[in-house]
Amino acid sequence: MPTNIENICCIGAGYVGGPTCAIIASKDLDISVTVVDLSQPRIDEWNSSRLPIYEPGLQDIVEAARDGSGLNPVTLHFSTDVKGAIHRADLIFISVITPTKTVGVGAGQAADIKYVEAAAREIAEVATSDKIVVEKSTVPCGTAEILRDIFDAVGDPQVRFEVLSNPEFLAEGTAIADLLSPDRVLVGSEGTPSALEAASALADVYSSWVPRERIITLNIWSSELAKLSANCMLAQRISSINSLSAICEATGADIQEVSHSVGLDKRIGPNFLKASIGFGGSCFKKDVLKLVYMAETLHLPEVAAYWKAVVDIKNGKRTALAGTTVDGKRIAILGLAYKKNTGDTRESPAIDFMGSMLAEKATLAIYDPKVSYNKIIHELGELFGHEAVARYVKPCENAYSACRGASTVVIMTEWDEFKTDRLTLPPALDLGDLTASRLTTPTVKRADSVSSGIPSSQSEDRS
Ligand code: NAD
Repeated sequence: MPTNIENICCIGAGYVGGPTCAIIASKDLDISVTVVDLSQPRIDEWNSSRLPIYEPGLQDIVEAARDGSGLNPVTLHFSTDVKGAIHRADLIFISVITPTKTVGVGAGQAADIKYVEAAAREIAEVATSDKIVVEKSTVPCGTAEILRDIFDAVGDPQVRFEVLSNPEFLAEGTAIADLLSPDRVLVGSEGTPSALEAASALADVYSSWVPRERIITLNIWSSELAKLSANCMLAQRISSINSLSAICEATGADIQEVSHSVGLDKRIGPNFLKASIGFGGSCFKKDVLKLVYMAETLHLPEVAAYWKAVVDIKNGKRTALAGTTVDGKRIAILGLAYKKNTGDTRESPAIDFMGSMLAEKATLAIYDPKVSYNKIIHELGELFGHEAVARYVKPCENAYSACRGASTVVIMTEWDEFKTDRLTLPPALDLGDLTASRLTTPTVKRADSVSSGIPSSQSEDRS
């Protein structure tokens, strides 16, 4: 088993693979890092000055490692040559998506690990030397065993494969800070001498910038389940506070006062206690559903029902937004990303909301500082019909042009530009004092005249 890592490959140049590898490559470790992806456009963007994802601080780190300069060698590569990168690597991260299944048994709930399996199969077919294979993707407990079976069945018997679990805890929007200073790094292994050797080689890579006490070596099943559990616990807090906000709305209690008071209790703490439209992002929902499915298959119906409620409360909160007649009206939607400081719209509350508004034939004037309009228009078209989207969705250059002539303004993402500066609106459009305090109001207020709604800020998918 390689004990000194000189060449790393990462399969999947996404929100996790790209930033994680950029940080490793920036650490002057004498390690060549290659991030590979099947998508040529995505790789082209990583190799350009317009990266496919937005993360504060990412651009400079990528450019320095990818382009090199003076005494600094090139340490970071982006390529579609998956086989070549696997062939050269000592250690391979698998960082592909793990959505829920769309068809068959467990559709909509069970984890679909076919992308992880495909990556493992490719590794098994290509490898001619020993490899450390690292699950970076969030996977259900037991996945490492499936990977081991693939290596046993497909791999060259002369080649040894050691599977580790090293789940990623970064949150979009703060990925670089999270990677540079993680609360913990988990390195899960099966505990055999060879597995421990591989775990120690991976821990050595991280230890060049992460304090040793934050690098936890543990059993591989615990590592897989710990990641899933962390996301579920965070999602559960959001749903808990949202369930209480429904009681507040019915009783006259103020959810902000309640959450502030509750959060002052040190045992509870203030994080993830802002009432909102519910969690967004690509991870929380699918990861809670994975736990639900695992509980069902383990014949633990009460456990499944408990976690299922976390998702149900989120959905209830979201549909409650639609309601009044908006036919023919112009609605300004400020923010499309599922949270600030990212251009990611996967599972964004804004998308569901826009679907409801389009069904009612409202004209949607949309604005987001980082979301690619071409991409979002295409995605909305796939979801709600290209004709309807072309007719009713109007991308705008800034918040002001989106608000012009709107009967309702809905702020879906807590971008700072919507809250730190008072929005000076055109005279024809008096939104009143759209200030920071109003921007934290969790409920959407909609009226026939101009009004504002500020539901976001809790879509903090720490996935
Ligand atoms: P992503 O969709 O941004 O990136 C995945 C990439 O993998 C895509 O570009 C896709 O083209 C590529 N890919 C898929 N199969 C491939 C193959 N066989 N060979 C080469 N490339 C392939 O996904 P992501 O958001 O980076 O998430 C990856 C994993 O990390 C998921 O399991 C997710 O749950 C987990 N995670 C995500 C976050 C997050 O904030 N996005 C945080 C922590 C963990």
